[in-house]
Amino acid sequence: MYKTHTCGELRIEDVGKIVKLAGWVHRRRDHGGVTFIDLRDRFGITQVVFDSETAPEAHQAADALRMEWVIQIEGVVRRRPIGSENPSLPTGEIEIAANNLKILNPAKTPPFLINKNEEADENTRLKYRYLDLRRDKMRRNLELRHRVVKFIRDYLSERGFWEIETPILFKTTPEGARDYLVPSRLHPGEFYALPQSPQQLKQLLMVAGVERYFQIARCFRDEDQRGDRQPEFTQLDLEMSFVEREDIMQLTEDLFTKLVAAVVPEKRLFASPFPRLSYHEAMERFGKDNPDLRYGLELVNVSDVVANCGFAVFEQAIRSGGSVRGINVKGCGDYSRKQIDELTEYVKQFGAKGLAYIAFPRGGEVRSTFVKFLSPELQKSLFERMRVEEGDLLVFVADKDEIVFESLGRLRVYLAEKLNLIDENVLAFCWVIDFPFMVWNEEENRWDPSHHLFTAPMPEDIPLLDIDPSKARGQQYDLVLNNYEIGGGSIRIHDRTLQEKVFKLIGLDLDVARERFGHMLEAFEYGTPPHGGIAPGIDRICMILAGEPNIREVIAFPKNQAARDVMADAPSPVEAKQLEELHIQVVLPSTLQKS
Ligand code: ASP
Repeated sequence: MYKTHTCGELRIEDVGKIVKLAGWVHRRRDHGGVTFIDLRDRFGITQVVFDSETAPEAHQAADALRMEWVIQIEGVVRRRPIGSENPSLPTGEIEIAANNLKILNPAKTPPFLINKNEEADENTRLKYRYLDLRRDKMRRNLELRHRVVKFIRDYLSERGFWEIETPILFKTTPEGARDYLVPSRLHPGEFYALPQSPQQLKQLLMVAGVERYFQIARCFRDEDQRGDRQPEFTQLDLEMSFVEREDIMQLTEDLFTKLVAAVVPEKRLFASPFPRLSYHEAMERFGKDNPDLRYGLELVNVSDVVANCGFAVFEQAIRSGGSVRGINVKGCGDYSRKQIDELTEYVKQFGAKGLAYIAFPRGGEVRSTFVKFLSPELQKSLFERMRVEEGDLLVFVADKDEIVFESLGRLRVYLAEKLNLIDENVLAFCWVIDFPFMVWNEEENRWDPSHHLFTAPMPEDIPLLDIDPSKARGQQYDLVLNNYEIGGGSIRIHDRTLQEKVFKLIGLDLDVARERFGHMLEAFEYGTPPHGGIAPGIDRICMILAGEPNIREVIAFPKNQAARDVMADAPSPVEAKQLEELHIQVVLPSTLQKS
């Protein structure tokens, strides 16, 4: 037996016990004839003492020890001398007087410190991920993720759900990204697609009569990388039969409310029940459909007030179908020109041409780029609409709605961070519902489903699909947490005729649709129950609960931001023979061709 106890286990009640511990040398201190080792394993840290007087041999052997060596010790648990207890360690009242030391494996000096949560270069951390994961913060993240997933599994199992695995080698399951393809050796020229989600399979499980399904499912999407994106990521995928939108939303809400209480009891919910916003309301108030409710700084539409105000920039934006909206940045009326310029530069990244402002410094004169164009009455109406008080700063963007929402929506988040308005201990869940069913795709000149192909429209809006699809709403819902969409789902179409109508609407030729989704269409003819589901993203949820800035911090072996695994060096070229067997010829883009 390597260990009688873990390194996190021994307490004052164990004093006098003879124990064996094994783990890594976390830290080492020499005090003349005494050497102290902090011995670490996954469960914690225990202080081990090698004394030259009582155990000369072990003391001598401890001389060789360096950071991260793997050792085993044997000794007696004893109370630490008064005054040298360490209250920040659960084992901090005791230490082990070692009389035996066995070196199990020496270690090279790690490329970064493991006993400190010091900033290290991310690519180095990813290259040596097995060392990075030894660090306390990463160990805690792994544990948190385990507890989240375990809670979900228990919760759903208790409510009659079955966990069912679905294939990874499958056919295209579109969720709006590119597919990862896998060539087939046995079927030359043919490819599997890795599922972008188990969407079709979970629906087929409903046709199969499973009624309540879930899976901690890996999804694969080939898209450009961003902070919270990975080529493969994990969803809690779930689906239920004989349900309406309300049923799924209530179950999900109860799951997350209880999960927070069980896993991160130190965090507070912003509101319970979770607030519900229509897509329209979310955009109007926050400029985005994944709003952070933890602070104010809401957008205010002033288009009607300034439509004929005499300030050409505003008038023009409105005349060409856009809008003018503003934010009252409370308490920032003293901002200098430079500070306001910085905000202007920020919104310009999102297409805004500028940022009009009115500053009301405390006890000073009003400063503004445009207010002089407005009559005193108009000024009064504008200030009233914006609920101005002394000390406030009003900022406005005038443009197409799209640009106004994007730039002010982002500015709102930027300001909240800058002004320290965000309480990290608060979890603001909310639902966004009543999304448009279809969105117009300018480039391709056709309608795109705003969620996915299988989402049902609101029953009362089905006639609109023939008249004005832009007005139809979908039976979908997004779950939002703080500043992130953490999951989306919908009630599905369970009727072949309606499904075919949707294919037609998005310009998917029926023959192509049948080739791609024939199995779904056929299944729908064999008695399909009404069904729906949702798929919260495990990575994002863990990232937020752990207070991390990106999902790589809560994934054991993530790809870097260029979608590479820098530890194993993947993707990488393969041998010619493998390609031959797969009947594949590689034609590199000219930029990568060797001359
Ligand atoms: N398959 C959807 C997604 O990955 C979720 C769902 O509709 O259940 O976003």
